[in-house]
Amino acid sequence: MKAVIYARYSSDNQREESIEGQLRECGKFAERKGYTVVKTYADRTISGKKADNRPQFMEMISDSAQGGFDVVIVWKIDRFSRDKYDSVIYKSALKKNGVSVISATEPIDDSPEGKLMESIFEGFSEYYLKDLALKTSRGMTENIIKGKYNGGTITFGYVIDDERHFQYDPEKAPIVTDIFRRYASGESIKSIVDELNFNGIKSNRDKTISYHFINCMLNNRRYLGEYSFKDTVNENAIPPLVAPEVFEKCQQRLSENMHRPASFKPVEDKYILTGKIFCGHCGARLTLTTNGKKYQRKDGGVTITPKTRYVCYNKTRHPELCDGQTGYTAKKLDSVIETVILKLFEKVLNLPREELIEGQFDSRLADLNVQLVRAKAELKAEVEVREALEGELIRVIQGTSVLNREMLNSKYVEAQDKVALKQETVDRCQRELEDSKVLLDNIRKQYENLETWSTVFSDSAIEVKKMIVSQIISAIRVSRDYKIDIDFNISFEQFGVEM
Ligand SMILES: [Zn+2]
Repeated sequence: MKAVIYARYSSDNQREESIEGQLRECGKFAERKGYTVVKTYADRTISGKKADNRPQFMEMISDSAQGGFDVVIVWKIDRFSRDKYDSVIYKSALKKNGVSVISATEPIDDSPEGKLMESIFEGFSEYYLKDLALKTSRGMTENIIKGKYNGGTITFGYVIDDERHFQYDPEKAPIVTDIFRRYASGESIKSIVDELNFNGIKSNRDKTISYHFINCMLNNRRYLGEYSFKDTVNENAIPPLVAPEVFEKCQQRLSENMHRPASFKPVEDKYILTGKIFCGHCGARLTLTTNGKKYQRKDGGVTITPKTRYVCYNKTRHPELCDGQTGYTAKKLDSVIETVILKLFEKVLNLPREELIEGQFDSRLADLNVQLVRAKAELKAEVEVREALEGELIRVIQGTSVLNREMLNSKYVEAQDKVALKQETVDRCQRELEDSKVLLDNIRKQYENLETWSTVFSDSAIEVKKMIVSQIISAIRVSRDYKIDIDFNISFEQFGVEM
């Protein structure tokens, strides 16, 4: 296994292990585990500065996408993140890239609370990441001004040198120039893609070249030498691969092609349900397919209107396995689902929240509190009995009491047992009270998420809608006439919502 080490040191904490100390401990840990350490990252936080300034941390997160390591070792888990949300967000970002986080000195947080949060935030991590990345914008802007690579996937055609500057990739740079030249002179993107794939050219992430890839390339101003971040543009940051007039020509062609019906956007990106939807008759997954419907125009030409449907795999390949409907119009089904979700959200937003959540728990917590107070009082009484017997026993030993010693002894043992029993009851009540508080807290958090989603859903971009749907819905089964049956990830009953 390949590992990297991440260390962080803030000078405002006196009891902190130095970076060198952290690296040493982590190194020893890696050795014990048989991991190969391929890189170390370290951030030094200066007191008073915002903790968000963690350039090496961000670099580590971004590097994880390249697949160079499987594990991040930290001295203590709090080196990795500043709070729980942070931890969940970045951990799940790493998880997506197949990387896990291990502490060299403490076991991993596997609490149910941690797991619940992890599941809730999993899908959102990318959006949080984008948001948090913005917060590191000062460092990014500085890099732009210096013409230094800001992280992320390296632009095709370039390599990054030791000083983090862009340099030509001797193999791929000529390919880029050639692609621009060919597109500018009228060749279609599809033909360019086919030719590149025929020759076995792969992207920097070792993927087959797609239509989308070329389209992005043709739009990328880095090939002119420009490097930008937000409003900051450095026009001479990168050695250029394309002449401005060739680039301009390509832009013209691209904007002409934009108006054609067949957009380059992959079809899955336009519909919210991909991957979660099943045939209500046979249980097979429904997949998105697009067929062109041809219309003869008056001028003699043919217009092709793409029609996208969710289709039952069984029904099309093994019709004997399914007696349901073959396909469902994607737009129609999506809008049915959206209506259901919007209705659900409306219910959620209209809930008397205090009453439902707090109210439900108030009585439970109050009940447990009463039990606890009673148990404590009973414990106190039993302790007093035991103490009285203790005193009497001492007097017997001193010869100042006439009571029978054996009788007292057995009574004392009895009292001892009763105290232990009452102590158990007190402990149990306390535990239950704690558990209920944690549960209430979790439900509150879930509810807050729901509230946020409910508020933003209808105005959100399709990507966000997809994300929200995937958080809430685990599966949808569709049957004839667009009848739907939904499995939710969240128990709405706990909020008093009837489905
Ligand atoms: Zn079916």
